[in-house]
Amino acid sequence: MDYGYVDCHCHISAPEFEQDLEEVIQRAKAAGVKTLVAVTEGVEEFSRVLQLYECYPGLVAPCLGVHPLQMGRPGSEQRSVKPQDLDAALPQFYKHSESLVAIGEIGLDFTPWCAPTQQDRDDQMDVFIKQLNVARELQLPVNVHSRSAAKITIATMREQGISRALLHNFAGKPSVALEGVKAGYCFSFPPAVCRNQQRDKLIRQIPMEHICLETDSPALGLDKHERNEPCNIVLSCRYIADVKGLSPQTVQLVTAQNAHRLFPRANRR
Ligand SMILES: [Zn+2]
Repeated sequence: MDYGYVDCHCHISAPEFEQDLEEVIQRAKAAGVKTLVAVTEGVEEFSRVLQLYECYPGLVAPCLGVHPLQMGRPGSEQRSVKPQDLDAALPQFYKHSESLVAIGEIGLDFTPWCAPTQQDRDDQMDVFIKQLNVARELQLPVNVHSRSAAKITIATMREQGISRALLHNFAGKPSVALEGVKAGYCFSFPPAVCRNQQRDKLIRQIPMEHICLETDSPALGLDKHERNEPCNIVLSCRYIADVKGLSPQTVQLVTAQNAHRLFPRANRR
């Protein structure tokens, strides 16, 4: 079967795509993208991503999740998630469980200026574990963010008995990534990896069977200041192919197979 490209982590319900989503989708399809695994950052986005699933069945594979960082009041900085941010989200996970391919974007972000206090980190951990429990209960994989928290993110998932996880835009040490590989987890890389060679060693060490492609659109494109979109997945593919010494076709095929093993509910309709 030709799976095309699977964008394993993108934010197509983001306001950045409201104006011209149809064109963005057309460009993605023209580039050969056949699946968009669409994650959310907070409950206010849930209805939009489910609506896109209705509009583009077979293409949009929806995930619901509450991100470790939340937008504050308009104009203010991002803030660490609080347990009450999950209150309105929890019933939605159960209500829409049949439509979901995964729980995400969830995770831990211990970047010092994002989570300056121990209370912030404890709150993030609380929200993360609660959502891991939901995923286990609903037998869904998880789509995971981890920044400055690679080791603890993987250890927490293992402790919680999570067997299917995607660690998106992972930038931890290769030795920590290999702990995740041992647990059966996959790692996806966005076009931003092409900006420099920082992630080459990591990509080289993770076995091909544990690598997926993503764009994280509208963020993490090749150019920091430009909106990223799913058609740019070809850049991640080419870069990983280069680093691994494989053909882009092989990387496309293997990553798509990995993605469908991880998200078996994608493209059901
Ligand atoms: Zn993301």
